[in-house]
Amino acid sequence: MPDRPSTPLKVHRLRRLLEISRTLSSTLALPELLQKIVDDACELTQSESTSILLYDPASGELRFEAAPSQLRNGLSQVSVPLASSIAGWVFTNARPLIVPDAAADPRFYRKVDRTINFRTKSILAVPLLVKQEPIGVIEAVNKRGDDDYTEDDQAILEALAGHAAIALENARLLAKLQDANTELTRLDRMKSDFIAIASHELRTPLGLILGHATFLKELVPDTLQEQMEVVIRSAMRLKSIVEDLSAIAQKDDGQARVRRAQFSMAELIVEVVERFRETATQKVIDLGYDVPLQDPLFVEADKEKIDVALTNLLRNAVTYTDGGGQIGVKAETEAGFVKVFVVDTGIGIPAIEIGRVFERFYQVESHLTRRHGGMGLGLSIAKAMVEMHNGQIWCESREGVGSLFCMSLPATERQATAAGKVFKTA
Ligand code: ADP
Repeated sequence: MPDRPSTPLKVHRLRRLLEISRTLSSTLALPELLQKIVDDACELTQSESTSILLYDPASGELRFEAAPSQLRNGLSQVSVPLASSIAGWVFTNARPLIVPDAAADPRFYRKVDRTINFRTKSILAVPLLVKQEPIGVIEAVNKRGDDDYTEDDQAILEALAGHAAIALENARLLAKLQDANTELTRLDRMKSDFIAIASHELRTPLGLILGHATFLKELVPDTLQEQMEVVIRSAMRLKSIVEDLSAIAQKDDGQARVRRAQFSMAELIVEVVERFRETATQKVIDLGYDVPLQDPLFVEADKEKIDVALTNLLRNAVTYTDGGGQIGVKAETEAGFVKVFVVDTGIGIPAIEIGRVFERFYQVESHLTRRHGGMGLGLSIAKAMVEMHNGQIWCESREGVGSLFCMSLPATERQATAAGKVFKTA
């Protein structure tokens, strides 16, 4: 069949539809958007009224979501059953429907007209589909001039229904995302509170245990010295866990302060490496450092915090390297930054986990980590310490080959300021 020439009216309606589509894509708030859709649908289909009905899973009925302003209040009082209404038929069958004479159609649900004191003559209804599934119906009522609704009217209403469905789906997804986000924030808050309370409450009794155990060790006979050693060692382990937790708690509540003073990074490296000498020797790990002897590598930073970060990196290197392996610590200055590298030939980290090891409590798969213990806090603490200085920390690793951790610190306070964020100084 040859194409019929477009009538001026048809062209006008298509232009309007295009215009409306453009406006709709830029309108964000859902109620205004739906209102605009029903108003535009009314104009374009030349109807007396247009409304959007959404399926309410709780009642199993359709409820009016948008309607012309003069009918909105009345329509919000009624719901439309699926089984005995035209909208219900359209929803259930997911198909459009033109009803030229509503009163003669047995599916017509009269209660709506009675409630709002209206007289429905003709109806054009199309489903609102999201991924082919109906979520509601858009209905145009009473074609003006007592004409019948046409296929063109139907096509226009279907185009607008598409917009409404996308907007509703986006709003639903956004609401879901916001709920999930609120829940995550709540859980995160609970986690932070727990960490703060646990570290605070454990600190005092632990101090007492350690103090008394150390005191008793001096008094007990030689036969009990070994047991006392066990008590003290275990209490020391707990103390380091509590210290980790309070470092996190302090960062969370913004209490952590960077107390800057100049110190030699080369000396700190030697100090920290030597602390691990005994453990490394016991595990038969070759532990060494490579720092330029002529250059002390001065940095203006909080030595205690950098000590914690470096200790955590080295503790991990020793923990995750088996006997016969090697660990090296290297440092250099580059463009106003002092970089410290901790390199090991240990078990390495699978590529997909590398991005997550700096997260709190994150540990690589249990079969790798279970035999090593730990809480999954060491790297997140190291990261927090380095970032407080406006520095950066990162990792490169290959499973079964080894890992390289690098922390890069601004060498001076001025450099730190230039490096970015404002930091707190005591
Ligand atoms: P943990 O207390 O478990 O060591 P960390 O935050 O220090 O917690 O480290 C997180 C995880 O990153 C560890 O559980 C481990 O799986 C992995 N990891 C850290 N350092 C190394 C390393 N040098 N070699 C291999 N895996 C490492």
